[in-house]
Amino acid sequence: MDATIDKIYAEALAELAAAPDAAAVQDLAVRYLGRKGKVTGFLRGIAQLPSTERAQAGKRANEIKRALEAEVEAAQQRLSRDRETVAALDVTLPGRRIHPGVLHPLTQVTGAVCDIFARMGFSVAEGPEVETDYYNFEALNVPKYHPARDMQDTFYVSDNIVLRTQTSPMQIRVMEKQAPPVAVVAPGKVYRCDSDLTHTPMFHQVEGLLVDRDVSFADLKGTLTAFVHEMFDPQTALRFRPSFFPFTEPSAEVDIVCVMCRGAGCRVCGRSGWLEILGAGMVHPNVFRSVGYDSPQVSGFAFGMGVERIAMLKYGIDDIRKFYNNDLRFLGQF
Ligand SMILES: [Zn+2]
Repeated sequence: MDATIDKIYAEALAELAAAPDAAAVQDLAVRYLGRKGKVTGFLRGIAQLPSTERAQAGKRANEIKRALEAEVEAAQQRLSRDRETVAALDVTLPGRRIHPGVLHPLTQVTGAVCDIFARMGFSVAEGPEVETDYYNFEALNVPKYHPARDMQDTFYVSDNIVLRTQTSPMQIRVMEKQAPPVAVVAPGKVYRCDSDLTHTPMFHQVEGLLVDRDVSFADLKGTLTAFVHEMFDPQTALRFRPSFFPFTEPSAEVDIVCVMCRGAGCRVCGRSGWLEILGAGMVHPNVFRSVGYDSPQVSGFAFGMGVERIAMLKYGIDDIRKFYNNDLRFLGQF
């Protein structure tokens, strides 16, 4: 008799495994476990069995009934889960956009500036942002109490330690370690006590230095012209205005023709048609002296530019603080 109920169970499991959907499982449950189902029918028939077999057959039949009920429920759950998965995978929906990160515009511009000079044979050097007074000022021909120190509002950490006000200390650090020829650019953060639409207390500069025999102002002009033509466009005119920096002689400020109005005069260029982009000059003999270079034998030029300034001109940005507000709608455009 046991053999019959085991056969029914095996049959039911085989059908269950082949059931294609929830309706088939439901149908199977009725045919086996329903009021007129095969398992139910077997249980009813137990009463007619000889009394010696009844207990054994009843126990086995109830075990099988519970096992089959559990199998049916598991199959129903599995099928409904599959149906939900299919519903969630609506292939007609538009795809979700993945927003990859981008480099900060100032990082991009710093990289672009260094790239241009690297192609001209300059190497890249980086140095400390907390600097000694000696490297930031004295070795650059700005002794203590020199009026030129008033040109830069300096953050002093202590009497002899400052947050560097310029990337120029790297000129000294590089020349101390290396005999001429030298061709190096030094990008990095600098600090000045200043804050408005076009100034922030921390900003970025790229410094350049080239030292060799017979370097002339014409080399400086040619190098910076090549740079401006690469950075902006090959038609960009530039001009050199005489200026003063303690560490260069002669010194010049370099303007490019206004990128907004092409020289006609507009609000951005203050109607002048020109925009200042960097400072430059021939390295002062006192600077060579402080690193032990033989000043009459070598000559060189140096230049420095603000990365924010270049980025603002290149992208037409009117407020420097936008670079630091971390607004992704702004930063994501570059
Ligand atoms: Zn203009």
